[in-house]
Amino acid sequence: MAGDAVAEVKSRLDLIEVIGGYVTLHRAGRELTGLCPFHAEKTPSFTVSPERQVWYCHGCHEGGDLFKFIEQIERIDFRQALEMLADRAGVELESGPRAARGTGRRRRRSIELNAKAQAYYQHVLWATPAGEPGRALLRDRHVDEALARQFGVGFAPAGGPGEDALARYLTGKGGATVDELVEAGLVHPQRGARTRDRFRDRLVFPIRDERAEVLGFGARALGEAKPKYLNSPDSAAYHKSSAIFGIDLARTAIVREHATVIVEGYFDVIAAHAAGVQHTVASSGTALTREQVHSLGRIAETLILCFDGDDAGRVAATRAVDVIAAEGVQARICRLPGGAKDPDELVRRDPPAFVQAVADSAPAWQVLLDAALGAGEGGSVDARRAAAERAVSVLARIPEATTRELYLQQAARRLDIGARSLSTDLARSMRDGVRRPARIVVTAPAEPAAGAVEEPEPVEADEPMPPWEAQLARVVLIRPELAAALRTDSGLGPDEFTNPTARRIYDAASTDPAGFTLRRLGGGDQRRAAGLLVREVPEFADEAEPEAIKQLMADCVRLIHEEAVRRALVSISAEMHRARDEGRTEDADALAAKLSRLAADAPHLRRTVAVR
Ligand SMILES: [Zn+2]
Repeated sequence: MAGDAVAEVKSRLDLIEVIGGYVTLHRAGRELTGLCPFHAEKTPSFTVSPERQVWYCHGCHEGGDLFKFIEQIERIDFRQALEMLADRAGVELESGPRAARGTGRRRRRSIELNAKAQAYYQHVLWATPAGEPGRALLRDRHVDEALARQFGVGFAPAGGPGEDALARYLTGKGGATVDELVEAGLVHPQRGARTRDRFRDRLVFPIRDERAEVLGFGARALGEAKPKYLNSPDSAAYHKSSAIFGIDLARTAIVREHATVIVEGYFDVIAAHAAGVQHTVASSGTALTREQVHSLGRIAETLILCFDGDDAGRVAATRAVDVIAAEGVQARICRLPGGAKDPDELVRRDPPAFVQAVADSAPAWQVLLDAALGAGEGGSVDARRAAAERAVSVLARIPEATTRELYLQQAARRLDIGARSLSTDLARSMRDGVRRPARIVVTAPAEPAAGAVEEPEPVEADEPMPPWEAQLARVVLIRPELAAALRTDSGLGPDEFTNPTARRIYDAASTDPAGFTLRRLGGGDQRRAAGLLVREVPEFADEAEPEAIKQLMADCVRLIHEEAVRRALVSISAEMHRARDEGRTEDADALAAKLSRLAADAPHLRRTVAVR
């Protein structure tokens, strides 16, 4: 069971030590604080409670348990976080029958089969007549065998009449099942008895992770076949939104240069490495995503965009700047000289020119602002006004206030207009929501099928939580076993809570106290629950007397009951008045009776109900 693994991993790892690997923590009373890794801040509001095993940021209200932290900071899903932490804790996930069928094992198997497929493709490319079209394409692109081998390039043959050469090879010698090959994305799902290889008659580029494990493939068609590029489908091993082509070969150089060059295509990456620009990578099958930026941003301070010179490339670069800025990473834009189509073409013609172009890259906002000002500088009144509008729309996208202000002043100076009026327009533009949401990830034009739009997590507004509901929710979070008894003994139902989070916490804990953990709550509730847990509660220190806890709970229950009765009194009384106004005397009398019965049980509440 994943639940047991979660508990086991948590018990073996020290929350402070794990979080301390990402955030510098200082002790502050019973808790530790540091600068939040999830939002920019200068004074620490990120809090970790070793006692409660939760973390919470008072600034951006992110929070949760150990797993939530790893999910957030590594931008991975729960399953991947579990694998990562289990690995660190020395917990074997494969042991249980359920885990054996789980993602971890399927991922490993897909990676194994991908490695076998890659060896097969590489063999076909270099050692068989079938590989000749691939060798010809590489010759055409000036990629020699040593370089191609470094990147693991191979050739997927047409596969004979059954179009299944790889499938036959891997199910035969490779000992794989067809289902496993489908799972790894190497063959199409079976139709009847027929199994077809996914990649046929294509040059194949393995997409590997930092440890050079083959997660999936990108495959380029020969000639004009469509689609030009085809990628592995998302699987347990391959996630196109996080995979980065070339990262295994580029990582060391990225760390050394504190920067990474991002290009659009596989051949661009290979060409850049050939020209000695080894910190070059590409997103594969999608436009640059936040996940990719986030993982590159952990090892590089600056991302240098070196996209194709056409309109599509310029649009993609402009969008990528927003994605990078949203992650708080520096973006630069590299312009290719001499009308070069892409880095690959430039390197084939003039490698030093490419190296120089990368060195000459400029801050992205500067490049975008320059383009916006265009002919406006020193132009007519109309041209300057139009340029000011374009400049405002660029400025509105800069998330960081100081940077925005500096570029605003520069734009005002260059257009010879007052910074104040430009600033007024900017404020209006930002208020009107002209500022683009940066989290939209746009489909790469070359690969429409592989594009992805990231869905923002639906946000439930934080509703006010009355203090007594917060108190009780906190007790229940710390001692879920008390919740079930409380529900039976006091008859307190979840519906009596006004705050939805408190209601769900109480409901979940009282229904299944033994199985209750923070993980049982949805993302928003988990955050809010962490927020409740990091707050100091003197009445409820661990050493507090059981009697004191009972008293506290009884007080909370009484207040929640009373509040529920008060709300009922208000609504019945309103209903009664409406019935009376509308001449429904019988209804009104029935409601009045109900009202007095309720009020008899809670005489002290009567005067809090407005009487008309
Ligand atoms: Zn924060």
